Amino acid sequence: MLEGRDLTKSFYVKQGRSPLARKARVHAVEAVTVRLEAGKVTALVGESGAGKTTVARMLAKIIKPDAGEVLLDGKPAPAGRPRSYAAQVQMIFQDPFASLNPVHRIRHHLMRPLQIHHMTGGNVDKAIAELLNRVALKPAENFTDKFPYELSGGQRQRVAIARALSVRPRVLLADEPVSMLDVSIRLGVLNLLADLRDREHLAILYVTHDIASARYLADTIVVMYAGQLVEAAPSVSLTDHPAHPYTQLLLAAAPDPDRAETPKLADRGAPPSLLAPPSGCRFHPRCPYAMDICKRQAPPSFAVSSGHIAACWLHAQPGEQGAIKNGAFSTPAGQLDIEKQKR
Ligand code: SF4
Repeated sequence: MLEGRDLTKSFYVKQGRSPLARKARVHAVEAVTVRLEAGKVTALVGESGAGKTTVARMLAKIIKPDAGEVLLDGKPAPAGRPRSYAAQVQMIFQDPFASLNPVHRIRHHLMRPLQIHHMTGGNVDKAIAELLNRVALKPAENFTDKFPYELSGGQRQRVAIARALSVRPRVLLADEPVSMLDVSIRLGVLNLLADLRDREHLAILYVTHDIASARYLADTIVVMYAGQLVEAAPSVSLTDHPAHPYTQLLLAAAPDPDRAETPKLADRGAPPSLLAPPSGCRFHPRCPYAMDICKRQAPPSFAVSSGHIAACWLHAQPGEQGAIKNGAFSTPAGQLDIEKQKR
């Protein structure tokens, strides 16, 4: 339904306070392809600064990619962000406290998009009540005249989702929609998104740094690291058989009540600066399996299994550049059995 193909984006930041200070290039996103389908949730997972939000904003056409294109139903999306596009592709922002204007009542927040997009059906009150019911804020009359500060974080995020639904979109881009909510109310919002996928057949992008919630909600998971896509697969395949060492690290660092101790991501260093990303594979300074080729050459995406790809030299096949000799790569730690890595 909605596809971002080879999306690339850089930003420029001043180095120093002087008005003459030079600008440095931040390589925020490089050649990322994401495809969203009707009735499916696709999770975009990675640490802070991985470029997830930038990808979501490019898909929403809030920012323009430097290269690559956005396709809607297989055709290039219209230039700019016309109302017809915004009506089909809606974004839900991370902070429900900032995304609703505190001086307006809930009725105003929902009425405006309904009126702008001519979606009232002649009865504004009924349309608002239906929206609130769709996000399980019932009875609607208990909420319409309240200000955002009178609602809990979870209720505000539901109002933000109702506002996005008001224009009857086909695609929802949810940027960390639960990360600012109390743990106790996160599940309710995740279940609401699952319900919208199943009941209303929406295509949903779920941006998160929490791979555990991605496994719970998403049909497909795409993992990003330092602005690049490193692994993508159906969520069961990716979480049961992670192929990229970074995904393995993310899963190992996810809280698990059955484990006495959970390793920390920081134990293996910090993500690199995107002002000067590492050469070759951007993960190589943190990777326990880094080889010579990893420092010299960025790996392409290799097919690991059906619908499962990983951008890692460990998955190169004989005959591919930098491929395995006799079933093993030479690593700093000795010979690494590639078949074991592939499970
Ligand atoms: Fe590690 Fe090399 Fe794979 Fe990068 S390409 S994740 S450094 S093994």
